Amino acid sequence: MSSAVSPTTYDIVVLGAGSGGYACALRAAQLGLTVALVERSLLGGTCLHRGCIPTKALLHSAEVADAARTADRFGVRAELLGVDMPAVNRYKDGVVRRLHHGLRGLVGASGVDYIAGQGRLVDASSVEVDGRTVRGRHVVLATGSAPRHLPGVNLKDPVVSSEGAVLLDRVPTHAVILGGGVIGVEFASIYRSFGAEVTIVEALDRLVAAEDTAVSAALARAFGARGIDVRTEVRVVGVHEKDGVATVELSDGDRLEGDLVLVALGRDPLTAGLGYAEAGVETDHGFVVTDDRLRTSLDGVFAVGDLVSGPALAHRGFAHGIFVAEEVAGLAPVPVRDQGIPRITYCAPEIVSVGFTEEQARQTYEAADVRELSLAGNGKSQILGTSGFVKVVRSHRDGPVVGVHMIGARLAEQSGEAQLIVNWEALPDEVAALVHAHPTQNEALGEAHLALAGKPLHSHT
Ligand SMILES: Cc1cc2nc3c(=O)[nH]c(=O)nc-3n(C[C@H](O)[C@H](O)[C@H](O)COP(=O)(O)OP(=O)(O)OC[C@H]3O[C@@H](n4cnc5c(N)ncnc54)[C@H](O)[C@@H]3O)c2cc1C
Repeated sequence: MSSAVSPTTYDIVVLGAGSGGYACALRAAQLGLTVALVERSLLGGTCLHRGCIPTKALLHSAEVADAARTADRFGVRAELLGVDMPAVNRYKDGVVRRLHHGLRGLVGASGVDYIAGQGRLVDASSVEVDGRTVRGRHVVLATGSAPRHLPGVNLKDPVVSSEGAVLLDRVPTHAVILGGGVIGVEFASIYRSFGAEVTIVEALDRLVAAEDTAVSAALARAFGARGIDVRTEVRVVGVHEKDGVATVELSDGDRLEGDLVLVALGRDPLTAGLGYAEAGVETDHGFVVTDDRLRTSLDGVFAVGDLVSGPALAHRGFAHGIFVAEEVAGLAPVPVRDQGIPRITYCAPEIVSVGFTEEQARQTYEAADVRELSLAGNGKSQILGTSGFVKVVRSHRDGPVVGVHMIGARLAEQSGEAQLIVNWEALPDEVAALVHAHPTQNEALGEAHLALAGKPLHSHT
């Protein structure tokens, strides 16, 4: 990778090399633009080093532990002798290392000037990196987000954020998870599979509150069956640590003790102290304010990824980055719509959603039409031993599909077709006419559309 700073003015200077920033840099270089990519830590950002990839590797180890634990159900003699966390971490770190190596190779071969250092926005056309000025005709802000702190609570093992949790070198005996959102339920699932007692504390009335209410209810049932203790509508009023044991005080007067407390209360955009406000970039609750073409209030300056209010997802960052590169190159790309972005929660069971929930559809359309298809009648799901459902939402009886929601083992991989259906505004009849391979879980998606089109095959709806 080049670390030279060209004296010339780049077409684009990207500040931050996470999902949004590096996607922008790579696409811009493909389009023949000159690009500087500034990063103070590691190329790949949160997703590669502290987020998506390490957590999904941990979840895979968790799935293997569950497979060993439940092997006799499938007639296989196996015994789970334990979870060797140093070995789990070696496997996880190997995955991250190989992907990081590949990404470094990609950026190095792309012609992008990679500049290692702490950057700061100076004005609409310059970024200062450790005292050096890097100029660009356009600047792309891509500094991402960081775990939200709980006021008055020190992050020191056994009290950690997700950043500490991905590095943990032991299986906790009792993990108390503060927050029942995506990150909280993923770690709850990991620790439970690894053999820990797990309690989730959530202030709202349900887990994964951004999801369809039926999905939240199904997850609560599945977690209950797995022995995960879920406390909803209760707030944390204090966290104290003594001799490696943390005590969590709750608003209902209860106290929970754990040898691990994970603070998973969401993430905040990283905009403070980076020169944004001084240069004239408008922010709102810390998020950079943009229009639908990701332009900030400062002419020539764009923002991408977690800095922009909306679902904090790596693939949204990629899409933002590609959009801005193409916009600068004059290709007039179609704006990225948050509504069409698939969202996945990789706990066991997995959750997939795209588009409107049933509740949102009923608020938006007068005659929204909904079908829920249980996985009980799906051959592959029976083979795997998973329950769950596929819920399909359409705007009205003859309207297109505006939402798909699924919960069950291994359903994440079904997100591809679900997002095509919603984003192409498919009619249930059109999806029903497509042949879904048997026996797959993908068939359940096809069958839900058969049901919505009024011709159910393996269901009574
Ligand atoms: C535990 C966890 C699990 C997750 N799992 C998933 C998942 O399964 N799927 C999914 O889609 N998303 C997941 N996410 C979210 C995903 O990681 C983020 O949405 C994504 O990383 C956002 O990309 P970004 O480019 O906006 O920011 P980031 O990836 O945070 O990148 C920002 C970069 O900017 C750099 N930077 C910041 N300030 C400066 C500065 N002043 N100078 C130079 N560089 C700077 C940072 O070092 C960082 O590398 C997860 C997140 C977490 C925390």
